[in-house]
This record gives sequence, C-alpha cells and structure tokens, in this order.
Amino acid sequence: MILGGGVSGLRAALAAAEHARVLVVTKDALRESSTAYAQGGVAAVLGGDDSFESHEQDTLSVGQGLCHEVAVHAVVTEGPERIHELLEWGGAFDRDGPALALAREGGHSHRRVVHAHGDATGAEVMTTLMRRVEQHANISVREYGFATDLLLGDGRCVGARMVAADNSACDIHARATLLCTGGIGQLFRETTNPAVATGDGIAMAWRAGVALADMEFVQFHPTSLYIAGAARHLITEAVRGEGARLLDSNGEPFVARYHPAGDLAPRDIVSRAIVEQLAQSGESCVWLDLTHMGARAHERFPGISRMCALYGIDIATQRIPVHPAAHYGVGGVVVDLDGRSSLPGLYAAGEVAMSGLHGANRLASNSLLEGLVFGRRAGEQAASESCPVPTCSEALVEGSELPAVALHARDFKNSVQALLWRAAGIIRNGGRLRSAERTAQQWLSFVNRVQLQSNDAREARNLVTVGALVLRGALWREESRGTHYRSDFPKRDDDHFRAHSLQQRGKDIHAQPL
Ligand SMILES: Cc1cc2nc3c(=O)[nH]c(=O)nc-3n(C[C@H](O)[C@H](O)[C@H](O)COP(=O)(O)OP(=O)(O)OC[C@H]3O[C@@H](n4cnc5c(N)ncnc54)[C@H](O)[C@@H]3O)c2cc1C
Repeated sequence: MILGGGVSGLRAALAAAEHARVLVVTKDALRESSTAYAQGGVAAVLGGDDSFESHEQDTLSVGQGLCHEVAVHAVVTEGPERIHELLEWGGAFDRDGPALALAREGGHSHRRVVHAHGDATGAEVMTTLMRRVEQHANISVREYGFATDLLLGDGRCVGARMVAADNSACDIHARATLLCTGGIGQLFRETTNPAVATGDGIAMAWRAGVALADMEFVQFHPTSLYIAGAARHLITEAVRGEGARLLDSNGEPFVARYHPAGDLAPRDIVSRAIVEQLAQSGESCVWLDLTHMGARAHERFPGISRMCALYGIDIATQRIPVHPAAHYGVGGVVVDLDGRSSLPGLYAAGEVAMSGLHGANRLASNSLLEGLVFGRRAGEQAASESCPVPTCSEALVEGSELPAVALHARDFKNSVQALLWRAAGIIRNGGRLRSAERTAQQWLSFVNRVQLQSNDAREARNLVTVGALVLRGALWREESRGTHYRSDFPKRDDDHFRAHSLQQRGKDIHAQPL
C-alpha cells in the first residue's frame, strides 16, 4: 500500500507493480499534490559539459556537511535514467532543437534543469506517471481516502487506518506500507505548498515510534507572490536563472550585498537577505524584475505570466511583489537507500523522508529527482516483502471514548501556522523557540483530548504534532547551518552539530552521527 500519489508515490507504485498488487491512496484528488505545482524542473546531468561530479559537488555544498554521500551519488547517477524513462513514457519536456532545453537554477554550476511547458514541469511529470499508472493492471488508486494512523502488529507496520469521504473508517492491511505523503509547508502562515501538505505521514510515523531526523531544516523559498488575500504562488528560481533581479523599493538590487552569487545565491541566503532588507526598510515586500526579457517573459514563463495577469501584473513591463514562504521540509522519516524506515514493513520516499540527499538544505530541482529515484527504489524493495498479509492489528486509536469537546479546526490551524511562522521562520532564536515549544505542547495535549470528527481536525492534530518536532529540533540545534538560522548562534559548529537531530517518541532528542 502506498500512501500518497505525487511523484514518489506514483513512481514507487510503478516499480512495485512489477512484482505485487499495489493500492495507492490519496487524501484528495490524485492530481492534488506538491508535485503537480512544481514549476522550475528536474535536475539531472544531461548536458555535454556537465558531469556527475559537478552535480554531486553542488548538492553537497548546498547541504553543508549533512548530506550522505552515498545517497547523493545514487540520486545523481540514476537521475538521467529516470528522466529518459519519463521521455519514453511520453513526457513532453521542453526542447532546444532536438536536444532537451536545460535551465540553470541557484546553487547549480551548470545548466541541468529539465522543464516542461516553460514552468509547468510538475504537471507534466504527474500526467506522464498517471497515464502509466492507469494502464497498469496491478495498480488501483483510491482517491479521497485519508490515512489517519499506521497499524502495528508483531513489531511491524501492517497497514493503515483510513477514513473515506463519507467519514467511515476501515483498516487496510498490507505486506508493506510506503509513506509518500509529501511535505509540511502548511505548518507555516506563509507557504508555497498546497493544502494537502500538512505533514500527516510524519505525524503518523511519530505516533508509531518511527525514527525521524532533521525536522528543524525547513527551506524557505525567497520568492512567492505577495498580495494580501492572494495565494502565495511560487515564482520559480528559473526566473532569476534567466537574469531577473530582486530589487528594493527604490528599484536597487540588494542581494549581492549578502552573497557574492547575488540573486543566484542559495535559497536560505536570498530569503534571509530579503527579511533583513525588509526589517531595515519597514516595507512588506521586495520586487522581482524580469522586464529585461520583454515579451519573451510571457513565452518562457507562461504559467507565471497568466497567474500575475490575474492580479493585474504584466510581467514583461511590471515588477512582481514577492516575499519568502515555507517551501520544503528537508527532514523526515529516516530511511536507507531502499526506503526502509526504522519500523519493519514501513517504507518512505519523497519529501516525507530523510534520505540523506539534502543534508541541511535542498538544492533547487533535486526533489522531483529524489522522488523518481528513491520512489522507484523503495517501491521495488517494498514489493519484495514476503510476510503474509496480516489480518489483525492494533491501531493507534484516536480515542472514540473521549468527550466530544468541539475543536474549531480552522482556528487551530491558523494559530499553529502563526506560531511556527513567528518562532521557527527564517530567523530563529532560543527564547522564541522555547516559548513556542511550550505553547505547542499545550495545544497538542488539548487536541489529543478531543474527538477528531473531520479530516480538518485530523490535519490540525498532525500540524501541531509536527510543529512541536520542528520547534524541538530548532531549539536543540544551537548553531546556524543550511536552512536553519539562529540569531543567537549565527555560526556553523561542526564540533557539536555535524550530526542529524534524531527524534523518536519516548526518547530525548539526540545527535545521530552521519
Ligand atoms: C509550488 C511548488 C513548486 C515546486 N517546484 C519544484 C521544482 O521545480 N523542482 C523540484 O524538484 N521540486 C519542486 N518543488 C518540491 C517538489 O514539488 C516536492 O518536494 C515533491 O513534489 C514532493 O513529492 P512527494 O511525492 O513527496 O509528495 P507530494 O507530491 O506532495 O504528494 C503527496 C501525496 O500524499 C497524499 N497524502 C498526504 N497526506 C495523506 C493522508 N493522510 N492520507 C492519504 N494521502 C495523503 C496527498 O494526497 C498526495 O497525493 C516544488 C514544490 C512546490 C509546492
């Protein structure tokens, strides 16, 4: 059983279905995932002057000492094969003559980012994988099935409890269960992530006692559209790869004051530069200027052009108001190179997992690639489980015996998002983190005492569960590294923190050597 139908879930399903019957469960429509919204592209070594060494080096350098070299090597060297496979399956990526068109993004030293329809790469990846999945006799897809908790039996994961659209619950048993539930962006008030990214997989894994790591590392994307009342649409980095500049309210470029790579510096540095710029100027946003491209901007970035036009902005002649937003959860369920978690029978791949690829930060366009490579590996491995399908199990129950205290789920979610944005956003410090962690624990004990009668309420509980893990990790890591910046510990401290932060229910947070 695969929980989640984004790039990692669907690629895993295709691999597993060569050996076993596979059920894919998604809590919304199959198309609704972060994958479907990915714009910039997929990084892979495909150009003549590029090399595996260079892609590996770029990944390691952005990951700031916490990447696992074997994971980086696996993803980089298997990447081109995964892209060629998508092409064989009918993936329509943009071309420059007969060759694939390759873009360059922040942190990459070569042009190596494959894209589709200008800036709709994720949608094309989804279309390609969905077509293939629909044709496969061994794969069934169940949409609008909300997985609430993992089922355990004899020290193994034996499936998951599911709530259907009509609110009826059932237990689904499986030889192997694969978490591909995506990210945690909805933990923060400002996020580029779709509504489904509420960290459910991480929360379920935590409740089941599975080892998690590096929860404090959350990547903030520097440029999301910032208009009051509008969704925080992502404006891909590829725009800056094509020469767009970030400007202050006087129309002056400023990022080069913070890093020699200027507008193409890694995301954490650009995000922090914007926050510091805004603190100095007292403004609420900075401006992204791609007017140097003129009308070509509409052709190269048709999705962004259409989206901005909805708000009355012509990207060929006008600057776009932007602000950083939570974008990618770097930490998650600890897995090996074949997706095995610490709990037998449970696998994980994609954004929910901590595979060792990203270290302390994620190189742009490496996550779709990770989903393709580790999704395939995990699917293949999960299908080789030979335990008989169990028929009984214990669920980690939601507590139907609890009194029916009403939970205003929307208000609860808003409060968690505001708490995390304030305390665990782009610039953190010990005082704020400590106080936010206490608050999160208090809210968690409240939500654990009420009956969860809707998926909104279940997501609210998952958000505060994961929020507490992010806060605890951020408090523990008394240094600054990658996406994690502590104003009270502004330097990287390899002597004490060149290690993963490991969290597991019932144990203290502690350092796990690489
Ligand atoms: C706007 C945006 C742009 C991006 N651009 C890029 C890019 O250009 N290149 C790049 O490499 N990366 C990009 N990323 C990151 C990348 O898209 C994601 O990291 C990646 O797609 C995650 O894939 P996934 O398979 O792990 O999860 P997702 O694609 O998020 O899929 C999660 C799945 O899990 C299901 N699910 C969740 N909870 C439950 C539950 N409780 N029960 C049942 N099902 C559940 C959801 O329904 C969904 O099907 C972008 C992200 C965003 C948000």
